[in-house]
Amino acid sequence: MVKYVFVSGGVVSGLGKGITAASLGRLLKARGYKVTMQKFDPYINVDPGTMNPTQHGEVFVTDDGTETDLDLGHYERFIDESLNRNSNVTSGKIYWSVLNKERHGDYGGGTVQVIPHITNEIKSRFYRPENPDEDRIAIIEIGGTAGDIESTPFFEAIRQFQFDVGHENAIMIHVTLVPYLKASQELKTKPTQMSVRELMRMGIRPDILVCRTDYPLGQHIKDKIALFCNVPVSHVIENLDCGSLYEVPLMMEDEHLADVVCESLKLDCPKPDLCDWKAMVDALNHPEHSAEIAICGKYTELHDAYLSVVEALKHGGFANRADVKIRWIDTEVVEREGTEKLLEGVDGILVPGGFGNRGTEGMIACVKYARENRIPYLGICLGMQMAVIEFSRHVLGYDDANSSELAPETMHPVIDLLPEQKDVENIGGTLRLGAYPCVLEEGSLAEELYGTREISERHRHRYEFNNDYREPLRKAGMRLSGLSPDNRIVEMVEIPEHPFFIGTQAHPELKSRPNKAHPLFRGLVKAAVAHHEK
Ligand code: GLN
Repeated sequence: MVKYVFVSGGVVSGLGKGITAASLGRLLKARGYKVTMQKFDPYINVDPGTMNPTQHGEVFVTDDGTETDLDLGHYERFIDESLNRNSNVTSGKIYWSVLNKERHGDYGGGTVQVIPHITNEIKSRFYRPENPDEDRIAIIEIGGTAGDIESTPFFEAIRQFQFDVGHENAIMIHVTLVPYLKASQELKTKPTQMSVRELMRMGIRPDILVCRTDYPLGQHIKDKIALFCNVPVSHVIENLDCGSLYEVPLMMEDEHLADVVCESLKLDCPKPDLCDWKAMVDALNHPEHSAEIAICGKYTELHDAYLSVVEALKHGGFANRADVKIRWIDTEVVEREGTEKLLEGVDGILVPGGFGNRGTEGMIACVKYARENRIPYLGICLGMQMAVIEFSRHVLGYDDANSSELAPETMHPVIDLLPEQKDVENIGGTLRLGAYPCVLEEGSLAEELYGTREISERHRHRYEFNNDYREPLRKAGMRLSGLSPDNRIVEMVEIPEHPFFIGTQAHPELKSRPNKAHPLFRGLVKAAVAHHEK
């Protein structure tokens, strides 16, 4: 059967609920349980695909082409399972579905209400196995904090669901904050008590409290929280700030999180196999090399906008036993100040994905710097398009080469709209999304890195390499090293003359895992370390 673990948050947002949930997933999987994860977000957008990344962070894309919250990236990295369209549910999706049913007449003349129609729709989206005999633990995170007006229907749905399936099959972990007051030098439990009271008011008794804190809680504080919040003291879990998020599963293991979860779900709790994970954390804590890599983009004021890229660079570091330092480069500043000073001394340059004109001339300047100074370069999606434009301008001599997204009037649109995008009107969910296969050229750097010629990567774009320019670019020395199997889309480009220069139309960062670094990131970091040591 399926057992459910709901994870909610209280007091403030940003407590690392997603990391706590993902860590639990890892600990349960390490015990041999099959695990899946979901995120329910209370906002009205149908998905985060239309949101500005500086507001909500990156958009994570699944294999099946769903645009999702960035927490799904943490889930995939921690539990190493591919998630799908059912894994991220928003209020927008819930209302969309209910309203469509209403228009279709499915409610038979009834008044459509938050309870039961919205709550039923929410309950129907809690993980259901395709095969009713499947055993699995579904970990379901609720976005926002308990007591928010917009998340209330989700909590009501959970209350009803616990009653439907039995409390021992659907437990609630509440992640709260235990703040430290400097003046009186003490940890305060009242915010946690208040937040639990908020949950209780909605008819939900938390089973486990995970308390985020800057200082160890101590027995006295744990006892106090247990007493006021109606949980056994062993169910008060300390969640100390720690150096790397990949250490959290090991810290949660020491705090016996998985044991109390299994106990609450009435499941056996075998010893976990965490060898792989521990080896990765060991590599993380004991680097033998270092390298500095510049991320040159336009959303640099919020690093979460490039979350998976940052994580994939770290993974590349673990695989090479290298400490990867990131230098954030705002390409609008490059446009004003040039590349020389800003990029001086970097060992690698990465231009990530993005949309719109702002900062793109600065990105092209960063590509030029990487190409001319033989600095390892990885271009992702927009970063690949920038590399094609740079090469067309400065090697081929098409001075006005550009993308028709950025300069519709250009005489040399070396990047152009995908043909199937020509009639698309709505912007939500209409990009080329999800996993597509790609065939790599024999003898290419990409083939060497991937160790195979057939690969699959996830995509999120509307523009592509313009096939009219294949021949001139090839002749000038650009290798089109990855093509779609039907030969229609250029998926990857390289400059064979350069020590490491690769651009990919896909988003490889989405498939990197801490203990299985993505080949392109492993390769980039290796090349950057070599650059550093030279
Ligand atoms: N804006 C470009 C396109 O739509 C690149 C998209 C991206 O980097 N994700 O093709």
